[in-house]
Amino acid sequence: MTPSVRSRGAGGTEGALKFGTDRAFQLELRRRVDEYFRTTGRRQRDCWQMYLKAAIVMASLAIPYWLLVFAAHAWWQSVPLAVLIGFAAAGIGFNIQHDGGHHAYSDRRWINKLMAMTLDFIGGSSYLWHWKHGVIHHTYVNVTGHDSDLNLGIFGRVTPHQRRFAFHRWQHLYLWPLYGCLAIRWQLIDDFRRLIAGRIGSHRIRRPRGTDLVILVAGKATFFAWAFGVPLLFHPVSAVLVHYAIAALVLGTTLSVVFQVAHCVEEAAFPPASAGTRRIERAWAIHQVETAVDFARPSRIAAWLLGGLNFQIEHHLFPRISHVNYPAISTVMEQTCRDFGVVYTEHQSFWHGVTAHFRWLRRMGMPSPNDRQRAPGSAPSI
Ligand SMILES: [Zn+2]
Repeated sequence: MTPSVRSRGAGGTEGALKFGTDRAFQLELRRRVDEYFRTTGRRQRDCWQMYLKAAIVMASLAIPYWLLVFAAHAWWQSVPLAVLIGFAAAGIGFNIQHDGGHHAYSDRRWINKLMAMTLDFIGGSSYLWHWKHGVIHHTYVNVTGHDSDLNLGIFGRVTPHQRRFAFHRWQHLYLWPLYGCLAIRWQLIDDFRRLIAGRIGSHRIRRPRGTDLVILVAGKATFFAWAFGVPLLFHPVSAVLVHYAIAALVLGTTLSVVFQVAHCVEEAAFPPASAGTRRIERAWAIHQVETAVDFARPSRIAAWLLGGLNFQIEHHLFPRISHVNYPAISTVMEQTCRDFGVVYTEHQSFWHGVTAHFRWLRRMGMPSPNDRQRAPGSAPSI
Protein backbone atom coordinates (compact mmCIF):
# COMPACT_ATOMS: atom_id res chain seq x y z
CA MET A 1 0.00 0.00 0.00
CA THR A 2 1.15 3.51 -0.63
CA PRO A 3 0.19 5.83 2.23
CA SER A 4 2.90 8.35 1.33
CA VAL A 5 1.35 8.80 -2.10
CA ARG A 6 -2.20 9.09 -0.99
CA SER A 7 -1.45 11.69 1.66
CA ARG A 8 -0.09 14.28 -0.70
CA GLY A 9 -1.24 15.95 -3.84
CA ALA A 10 -0.36 14.23 -7.08
CA GLY A 11 2.46 16.38 -8.30
CA GLY A 12 0.77 19.70 -7.68
CA THR A 13 -1.21 21.24 -4.92
CA GLU A 14 -4.46 21.44 -6.87
CA GLY A 15 -4.58 17.64 -7.11
CA ALA A 16 -4.99 16.94 -3.41
CA LEU A 17 -8.07 15.07 -2.27
CA LYS A 18 -8.75 13.59 1.13
CA PHE A 19 -10.15 10.14 1.74
CA GLY A 20 -12.19 8.78 4.63
CA THR A 21 -10.12 8.19 7.75
CA ASP A 22 -11.27 4.75 8.95
CA ARG A 23 -8.16 2.61 8.36
CA ALA A 24 -9.36 -0.57 10.09
CA PHE A 25 -9.79 -2.48 6.82
CA GLN A 26 -6.42 -1.38 5.46
CA LEU A 27 -4.54 -2.25 8.64
CA GLU A 28 -6.14 -5.69 8.99
CA LEU A 29 -5.55 -6.47 5.31
CA ARG A 30 -1.90 -5.48 5.63
CA ARG A 31 -1.55 -7.61 8.76
CA ARG A 32 -3.03 -10.69 7.07
CA VAL A 33 -0.89 -10.31 3.95
CA ASP A 34 2.26 -9.81 6.04
CA GLU A 35 1.31 -12.94 7.98
CA TYR A 36 0.89 -14.85 4.71
CA PHE A 37 4.44 -13.98 3.65
CA ARG A 38 5.82 -14.74 7.11
CA THR A 39 4.20 -18.18 7.36
CA THR A 40 4.94 -19.27 3.79
CA GLY A 41 8.44 -17.83 3.59
CA ARG A 42 7.71 -16.47 0.13
CA ARG A 43 9.43 -13.32 -1.04
CA GLN A 44 7.46 -10.18 -1.80
CA ARG A 45 10.03 -9.11 -4.44
CA ASP A 46 13.10 -10.55 -6.17
CA CYS A 47 11.15 -13.65 -7.24
CA TRP A 48 13.20 -15.80 -9.64
CA GLN A 49 10.18 -16.23 -11.92
CA MET A 50 10.34 -12.53 -12.76
CA TYR A 51 13.91 -12.66 -14.00
CA LEU A 52 13.17 -15.67 -16.21
CA LYS A 53 10.07 -13.96 -17.48
CA ALA A 54 11.95 -10.76 -18.32
CA ALA A 55 14.37 -12.74 -20.48
CA ILE A 56 11.52 -14.56 -22.29
CA VAL A 57 9.52 -11.38 -22.90
CA MET A 58 12.53 -9.40 -24.16
CA ALA A 59 13.41 -12.28 -26.51
CA SER A 60 9.81 -12.31 -27.76
CA LEU A 61 10.42 -8.76 -28.98
CA ALA A 62 13.98 -9.19 -30.23
CA ILE A 63 13.40 -12.31 -32.35
CA PRO A 64 10.45 -11.06 -34.46
CA TYR A 65 12.17 -7.66 -34.78
CA TRP A 66 15.31 -9.29 -36.16
CA LEU A 67 13.25 -11.44 -38.54
CA LEU A 68 11.18 -8.44 -39.68
CA VAL A 69 14.15 -6.21 -40.42
CA PHE A 70 16.64 -8.75 -41.77
CA ALA A 71 14.77 -11.82 -42.99
CA ALA A 72 11.16 -11.17 -44.04
CA HIS A 73 10.65 -10.61 -47.75
CA ALA A 74 6.87 -10.88 -48.20
CA TRP A 75 3.90 -9.15 -46.58
CA TRP A 76 2.48 -12.40 -45.23
CA GLN A 77 5.69 -12.78 -43.24
CA SER A 78 6.19 -9.15 -42.22
CA VAL A 79 2.63 -8.35 -41.08
CA PRO A 80 2.38 -11.20 -38.51
CA LEU A 81 5.86 -10.28 -37.27
CA ALA A 82 4.77 -6.65 -36.74
CA VAL A 83 1.71 -7.93 -34.83
CA LEU A 84 3.99 -10.09 -32.66
CA ILE A 85 6.21 -7.08 -31.94
CA GLY A 86 3.13 -5.13 -30.80
CA PHE A 87 2.08 -7.91 -28.41
CA ALA A 88 5.66 -8.32 -27.16
CA ALA A 89 5.93 -4.58 -26.43
CA ALA A 90 2.68 -4.83 -24.45
CA GLY A 91 4.19 -7.83 -22.64
CA ILE A 92 7.19 -5.71 -21.67
CA GLY A 93 4.85 -3.04 -20.31
CA PHE A 94 2.69 -5.48 -18.34
CA ASN A 95 5.40 -7.81 -17.04
CA ILE A 96 8.64 -5.88 -16.66
CA GLN A 97 8.14 -2.12 -16.70
CA HIS A 98 5.00 -2.07 -14.56
CA ASP A 99 6.56 -4.01 -11.68
CA GLY A 100 9.80 -2.05 -11.99
CA GLY A 101 7.99 1.30 -12.03
CA HIS A 102 6.09 0.35 -8.87
CA HIS A 103 9.32 -0.84 -7.13
CA ALA A 104 7.77 -4.31 -7.02
CA TYR A 105 10.48 -6.07 -8.97
CA SER A 106 13.28 -6.03 -6.46
CA ASP A 107 14.45 -4.66 -3.14
CA ARG A 108 17.33 -3.11 -5.06
CA ARG A 109 16.59 0.34 -6.35
CA TRP A 110 18.76 0.07 -9.45
CA ILE A 111 17.04 -3.12 -10.61
CA ASN A 112 13.62 -1.48 -10.35
CA LYS A 113 14.98 1.52 -12.23
CA LEU A 114 16.43 -0.66 -14.97
CA MET A 115 13.18 -2.61 -15.37
CA ALA A 116 11.12 0.61 -15.38
CA MET A 117 13.37 1.96 -18.15
CA THR A 118 12.10 -0.76 -20.50
CA LEU A 119 9.18 1.64 -21.04
CA ASP A 120 11.62 4.22 -22.42
CA PHE A 121 12.97 1.47 -24.68
CA ILE A 122 9.50 0.85 -26.18
CA GLY A 123 8.90 4.55 -26.78
CA GLY A 124 7.23 5.79 -23.58
CA SER A 125 8.71 7.62 -20.63
CA SER A 126 9.26 5.96 -17.27
CA TYR A 127 9.46 9.43 -15.71
CA LEU A 128 6.06 10.59 -16.97
CA TRP A 129 4.58 7.16 -16.29
CA HIS A 130 5.59 7.47 -12.64
CA TRP A 131 3.45 10.60 -12.35
CA LYS A 132 0.57 9.60 -14.61
CA HIS A 133 0.14 6.02 -13.46
CA GLY A 134 2.13 5.47 -10.27
CA VAL A 135 0.94 8.63 -8.52
CA ILE A 136 -2.15 10.11 -10.20
CA HIS A 137 -4.00 6.97 -11.34
CA HIS A 138 -3.09 4.88 -8.32
CA THR A 139 -4.10 7.59 -5.87
CA TYR A 140 -7.27 8.89 -7.49
CA VAL A 141 -8.45 5.86 -9.43
CA ASN A 142 -11.86 6.43 -11.08
CA VAL A 143 -12.28 9.92 -9.60
CA THR A 144 -13.49 12.11 -12.46
CA GLY A 145 -11.28 15.12 -13.08
CA HIS A 146 -8.39 13.59 -11.12
CA ASP A 147 -7.65 10.16 -12.64
CA SER A 148 -6.24 11.15 -16.03
CA ASP A 149 -6.77 7.62 -17.38
CA LEU A 150 -10.49 8.45 -17.53
CA ASN A 151 -9.91 11.40 -19.82
CA LEU A 152 -10.56 10.44 -23.45
CA GLY A 153 -11.10 14.07 -24.47
CA ILE A 154 -14.36 14.73 -26.25
CA PHE A 155 -14.22 11.31 -27.88
CA GLY A 156 -15.47 9.30 -24.94
CA ARG A 157 -17.58 9.48 -21.81
CA VAL A 158 -16.56 6.77 -19.38
CA THR A 159 -17.94 8.08 -16.09
CA PRO A 160 -21.37 9.39 -15.10
CA HIS A 161 -19.74 12.68 -14.07
CA GLN A 162 -18.33 13.57 -17.49
CA ARG A 163 -20.18 15.73 -19.99
CA ARG A 164 -22.16 13.81 -22.58
CA PHE A 165 -22.24 14.75 -26.25
CA ALA A 166 -24.81 13.40 -28.71
CA PHE A 167 -22.22 11.42 -30.66
CA HIS A 168 -21.27 9.45 -27.53
CA ARG A 169 -24.35 7.39 -28.40
CA TRP A 170 -22.05 5.43 -30.73
CA GLN A 171 -18.92 5.40 -28.54
CA HIS A 172 -19.27 1.69 -27.75
CA LEU A 173 -18.58 1.15 -31.48
CA TYR A 174 -16.08 3.81 -32.49
CA LEU A 175 -13.82 3.91 -29.41
CA TRP A 176 -12.19 0.53 -30.05
CA PRO A 177 -10.09 1.61 -33.05
CA LEU A 178 -9.25 4.85 -31.22
CA TYR A 179 -7.85 2.77 -28.34
CA GLY A 180 -5.29 1.54 -30.88
CA CYS A 181 -3.91 5.07 -31.23
CA LEU A 182 -2.83 5.19 -27.57
CA ALA A 183 0.74 4.03 -28.16
CA ILE A 184 1.27 6.22 -31.22
CA ARG A 185 0.08 9.21 -29.19
CA TRP A 186 2.41 8.68 -26.23
CA GLN A 187 5.36 7.71 -28.37
CA LEU A 188 5.07 10.68 -30.74
CA ILE A 189 2.87 13.40 -29.17
CA ASP A 190 1.62 13.20 -25.58
CA ASP A 191 4.95 12.77 -23.77
CA PHE A 192 6.37 15.87 -25.47
CA ARG A 193 3.18 17.87 -24.87
CA ARG A 194 3.14 16.97 -21.18
CA LEU A 195 6.77 17.93 -20.78
CA ILE A 196 6.19 21.32 -22.40
CA ALA A 197 3.02 21.96 -20.39
CA GLY A 198 4.42 20.56 -17.13
CA ARG A 199 1.00 19.04 -16.51
CA ILE A 200 -0.84 15.76 -16.76
CA GLY A 201 -4.55 16.50 -16.89
CA SER A 202 -5.41 18.72 -13.94
CA HIS A 203 -2.18 17.90 -12.11
CA ARG A 204 1.05 19.83 -12.24
CA ILE A 205 4.18 17.70 -12.48
CA ARG A 206 7.83 18.44 -11.87
CA ARG A 207 9.76 18.57 -15.11
CA PRO A 208 12.60 16.02 -15.29
CA ARG A 209 16.11 17.13 -14.41
CA GLY A 210 19.52 15.49 -14.20
CA THR A 211 19.46 11.69 -14.61
CA ASP A 212 15.71 11.68 -15.23
CA LEU A 213 16.12 14.04 -18.15
CA VAL A 214 19.04 12.05 -19.57
CA ILE A 215 17.02 8.81 -19.39
CA LEU A 216 14.04 10.46 -21.05
CA VAL A 217 16.03 11.91 -23.95
CA ALA A 218 18.22 8.82 -24.39
CA GLY A 219 15.14 6.58 -24.19
CA LYS A 220 13.30 8.44 -26.91
CA ALA A 221 16.45 8.47 -29.07
CA THR A 222 16.94 4.72 -28.58
CA PHE A 223 13.32 4.01 -29.48
CA PHE A 224 13.42 6.14 -32.63
CA ALA A 225 16.70 4.47 -33.61
CA TRP A 226 15.43 0.87 -33.43
CA ALA A 227 11.84 1.57 -34.52
CA PHE A 228 12.67 3.82 -37.48
CA GLY A 229 16.42 4.39 -37.94
CA VAL A 230 17.69 0.83 -38.37
CA PRO A 231 14.73 -0.39 -40.51
CA LEU A 232 15.12 2.65 -42.79
CA LEU A 233 18.65 1.51 -43.64
CA PHE A 234 17.19 -1.61 -45.28
CA HIS A 235 13.60 -0.78 -46.29
CA PRO A 236 11.59 2.04 -47.92
CA VAL A 237 9.95 4.69 -45.74
CA SER A 238 6.41 3.51 -46.60
CA ALA A 239 7.16 -0.07 -45.50
CA VAL A 240 8.72 1.10 -42.23
CA LEU A 241 5.76 3.38 -41.43
CA VAL A 242 3.15 0.73 -42.25
CA HIS A 243 4.79 -1.90 -40.04
CA TYR A 244 5.35 0.62 -37.24
CA ALA A 245 1.64 1.50 -37.43
CA ILE A 246 0.60 -2.16 -37.23
CA ALA A 247 2.81 -2.86 -34.21
CA ALA A 248 1.75 0.38 -32.47
CA LEU A 249 -1.97 -0.28 -33.06
CA VAL A 250 -1.66 -3.76 -31.56
CA LEU A 251 0.27 -2.34 -28.60
CA GLY A 252 -2.20 0.52 -28.02
CA THR A 253 -5.27 -1.70 -28.28
CA THR A 254 -3.84 -4.31 -25.92
CA LEU A 255 -2.78 -1.79 -23.26
CA SER A 256 -6.04 0.17 -23.46
CA VAL A 257 -8.42 -2.77 -23.32
CA VAL A 258 -6.64 -4.46 -20.40
CA PHE A 259 -6.75 -1.27 -18.32
CA GLN A 260 -10.32 -0.36 -19.33
CA VAL A 261 -11.60 -3.81 -18.42
CA ALA A 262 -10.10 -3.41 -14.95
CA HIS A 263 -11.72 -0.05 -14.15
CA CYS A 264 -14.31 1.12 -16.70
CA VAL A 265 -16.99 -1.52 -16.33
CA GLU A 266 -20.48 -1.65 -14.89
CA GLU A 267 -19.35 -3.10 -11.57
CA ALA A 268 -16.72 -0.46 -10.76
CA ALA A 269 -17.52 2.60 -8.66
CA PHE A 270 -16.93 6.15 -9.86
CA PRO A 271 -17.25 8.16 -6.65
CA PRO A 272 -17.33 11.92 -7.06
CA ALA A 273 -15.15 14.15 -4.91
CA SER A 274 -17.35 16.52 -2.95
CA ALA A 275 -16.83 19.98 -4.42
CA GLY A 276 -16.72 21.83 -1.13
CA THR A 277 -14.55 19.63 1.04
CA ARG A 278 -12.56 17.87 -1.72
CA ARG A 279 -13.22 14.64 0.11
CA ILE A 280 -13.88 11.09 -1.03
CA GLU A 281 -16.27 9.49 1.42
CA ARG A 282 -14.64 6.06 1.52
CA ALA A 283 -11.28 5.29 3.12
CA TRP A 284 -8.45 5.06 0.60
CA ALA A 285 -8.08 1.26 0.71
CA ILE A 286 -11.82 0.62 0.33
CA HIS A 287 -11.95 3.14 -2.51
CA GLN A 288 -9.23 1.15 -4.30
CA VAL A 289 -11.16 -2.12 -3.96
CA GLU A 290 -14.46 -0.66 -5.13
CA THR A 291 -13.01 1.06 -8.19
CA ALA A 292 -11.21 -2.00 -9.59
CA VAL A 293 -12.52 -5.30 -10.94
CA ASP A 294 -10.49 -8.51 -11.28
CA PHE A 295 -10.94 -10.87 -14.20
CA ALA A 296 -9.92 -14.41 -15.17
CA ARG A 297 -8.48 -15.10 -11.72
CA PRO A 298 -8.22 -18.89 -12.20
CA SER A 299 -6.27 -18.51 -15.46
CA ARG A 300 -2.53 -18.95 -14.98
CA ILE A 301 -2.03 -18.03 -18.62
CA ALA A 302 -3.82 -14.69 -18.22
CA ALA A 303 -1.84 -13.89 -15.07
CA TRP A 304 1.44 -14.76 -16.79
CA LEU A 305 0.75 -12.81 -19.97
CA LEU A 306 -0.80 -9.77 -18.30
CA GLY A 307 1.70 -9.37 -15.49
CA GLY A 308 -1.01 -9.98 -12.87
CA LEU A 309 -3.07 -7.03 -14.10
CA ASN A 310 -6.11 -9.31 -14.09
CA PHE A 311 -5.67 -9.08 -10.30
CA GLN A 312 -6.27 -5.35 -10.43
CA ILE A 313 -7.69 -5.08 -6.90
CA GLU A 314 -4.64 -6.79 -5.42
CA HIS A 315 -2.38 -4.61 -7.54
CA HIS A 316 -4.00 -1.39 -6.33
CA LEU A 317 -3.74 -2.38 -2.70
CA PHE A 318 -0.23 -3.83 -2.95
CA PRO A 319 1.54 -2.21 -5.92
CA ARG A 320 4.95 -2.84 -4.32
CA ILE A 321 4.48 -6.62 -4.18
CA SER A 322 5.63 -8.61 -7.20
CA HIS A 323 2.73 -9.70 -9.39
CA VAL A 324 3.69 -13.37 -9.17
CA ASN A 325 2.24 -13.25 -5.62
CA TYR A 326 -1.15 -11.82 -6.61
CA PRO A 327 -3.03 -15.13 -7.09
CA ALA A 328 -2.15 -16.18 -3.53
CA ILE A 329 -2.84 -12.74 -2.05
CA SER A 330 -6.24 -12.60 -3.74
CA THR A 331 -7.55 -15.34 -1.45
CA VAL A 332 -6.56 -13.29 1.61
CA MET A 333 -7.93 -10.18 -0.02
CA GLU A 334 -11.32 -11.67 -0.86
CA GLN A 335 -11.80 -13.07 2.65
CA THR A 336 -10.83 -9.77 4.28
CA CYS A 337 -13.28 -7.90 2.05
CA ARG A 338 -15.99 -10.35 3.05
CA ASP A 339 -15.20 -9.88 6.74
CA PHE A 340 -15.42 -6.08 6.43
CA GLY A 341 -18.42 -5.98 4.08
CA VAL A 342 -16.36 -4.47 1.27
CA VAL A 343 -17.54 -5.40 -2.22
CA TYR A 344 -14.96 -7.46 -4.12
CA THR A 345 -15.90 -7.92 -7.77
CA GLU A 346 -14.49 -10.06 -10.52
CA HIS A 347 -15.31 -11.24 -14.01
CA GLN A 348 -14.93 -14.91 -14.76
CA SER A 349 -12.90 -14.32 -17.89
CA PHE A 350 -11.25 -11.61 -19.94
CA TRP A 351 -14.10 -11.85 -22.42
CA HIS A 352 -16.69 -11.25 -19.66
CA GLY A 353 -14.70 -8.13 -18.75
CA VAL A 354 -14.59 -6.92 -22.35
CA THR A 355 -18.36 -7.29 -22.75
CA ALA A 356 -18.88 -5.46 -19.43
CA HIS A 357 -16.75 -2.58 -20.75
CA PHE A 358 -18.79 -2.58 -23.98
CA ARG A 359 -22.04 -2.34 -22.00
CA TRP A 360 -20.60 0.41 -19.81
CA LEU A 361 -19.57 2.47 -22.85
CA ARG A 362 -23.03 2.04 -24.36
CA ARG A 363 -24.70 3.05 -21.10
CA MET A 364 -22.47 6.11 -20.62
CA GLY A 365 -23.14 7.16 -24.21
CA MET A 366 -26.92 7.11 -23.87
CA PRO A 367 -28.99 9.95 -22.42
CA SER A 368 -30.37 8.70 -19.13
CA PRO A 369 -31.56 10.43 -15.99
CA ASN A 370 -30.52 7.34 -14.05
CA ASP A 371 -26.81 7.66 -14.76
CA ARG A 372 -25.78 7.94 -11.19
CA GLN A 373 -22.77 6.20 -9.79
CA ARG A 374 -23.74 3.27 -7.69
CA ALA A 375 -23.68 3.90 -3.99
CA PRO A 376 -20.46 2.56 -2.45
CA GLY A 377 -20.93 -1.01 -1.38
CA SER A 378 -23.99 -1.62 -3.54
CA ALA A 379 -22.41 -3.36 -6.54
CA PRO A 380 -23.92 -6.68 -7.47
CA SER A 381 -21.77 -9.72 -6.88
CA ILE A 382 -21.03 -11.52 -10.10
ZN1 LIG B 1 -0.03 0.07 -11.55
